[in-house]
Amino acid sequence: MTDLLLTNVRPNAGASTNILIEKGRIAAIGDQARSRAGLKTVDGGNAIAIAPFVEAHVHLDKILWGLPWHSIKVPGTLRAMIDNEVDIRKTLPWSVAERAGNLMRQCVAMGSTHIRSHVDISPGYKLDNLHGVLEAWEGTKHAVDLEIVAFPQLGMLIEPGTVELMEAALDEGATVIGGIDPANIDGDPRGHLDAIFDIAHRKQAKIDIHLHERGELGLFELGLIAERAKALGMQDKIIVSHAFCLGDAPYEELAPIKDMLAEAGIGIISAVPGEIPFPPLFDLAEHGVRCAIASDSLRDTWNPHGNGDMLERCWLLSWRTNCRTDEELIAALDMGTKRGADLLDLKGYGLEPGCDGSLVLIPGENLAQVVVDRPKRSLVVKRGRIVARDGNWVDIDAP
Ligand SMILES: [Zn+2]
Repeated sequence: MTDLLLTNVRPNAGASTNILIEKGRIAAIGDQARSRAGLKTVDGGNAIAIAPFVEAHVHLDKILWGLPWHSIKVPGTLRAMIDNEVDIRKTLPWSVAERAGNLMRQCVAMGSTHIRSHVDISPGYKLDNLHGVLEAWEGTKHAVDLEIVAFPQLGMLIEPGTVELMEAALDEGATVIGGIDPANIDGDPRGHLDAIFDIAHRKQAKIDIHLHERGELGLFELGLIAERAKALGMQDKIIVSHAFCLGDAPYEELAPIKDMLAEAGIGIISAVPGEIPFPPLFDLAEHGVRCAIASDSLRDTWNPHGNGDMLERCWLLSWRTNCRTDEELIAALDMGTKRGADLLDLKGYGLEPGCDGSLVLIPGENLAQVVVDRPKRSLVVKRGRIVARDGNWVDIDAP
């Protein structure tokens, strides 16, 4: 079913109207959106309709959710946490495909119909995590689009064979090359970045780098990334995730860095972390830097928190940045929806005729109130197909 008429819905919290989806695309909104014989019609109950949430950074292969509670014993160093995860994953009773499928269905139920997932690649894992996530996607493809980042979580230059496996991952379904803390993990910032830019440039892939490195070191590495993006003509294909260094930098020092990021077309994703300073997303966006928020690590060996709900994440951003006016709250919502779509360059995203027939219905008064109250999503539609209802995944064959 890719034709659907939604009646009594309020696009972006406007007046109540109808939305007609034909062949998976929005055909009409308003008076032209009429019923006809045989057309599936759903009363939206006066709910607000918005374009879907975008989950721009998650780790589908790491999720432990659904298994017995995992008590995290935080090891002292990043390296120890990485090794800790490898050990724990050897003992899990569920496969990558089972765990990834569970998280994908949860993301859809919360209203995200596009996911960018990092997937660990290493000589130990080989491409098993990639294959597991792709297997899970076979059962959810009708509900969610997926982009996979080949992610060298265990290190790249220090783990011989990883570079070759990351390149191989691009031939088997990944479309983005990942990177991680070029100085602290591989101990060679230029070597690490040269290796990932080389693969991405040759294979016409995008890049998404985990950059946790703080202060001057992180800013120095952002400079190296910008240099390479411009030299290789890869502007707008590069994302730096986390970029805590942008949260550390004094405000007056940020002006040239914002210009550099905008000019090099480098986007920034933040998970809005707890106690760590994070990039000033609204300020960056105002200066032309593409920004979005995402869940990142949740309910895994790294982090006990999170539920894959991007509306929660928008609320968290609004809380951490003291959004109080309606305008500010709506700007927080945009960071989990349209700014995410813009950052990932999603074609057909939006709530206008001609766009994909994908949307989320949320009962509420207005968009600002929805961010504060975070109501359950009453309906999630992907290209005309109902994929979740009342906060629950709907199986493909359900009526
Ligand atoms: Zn991550």
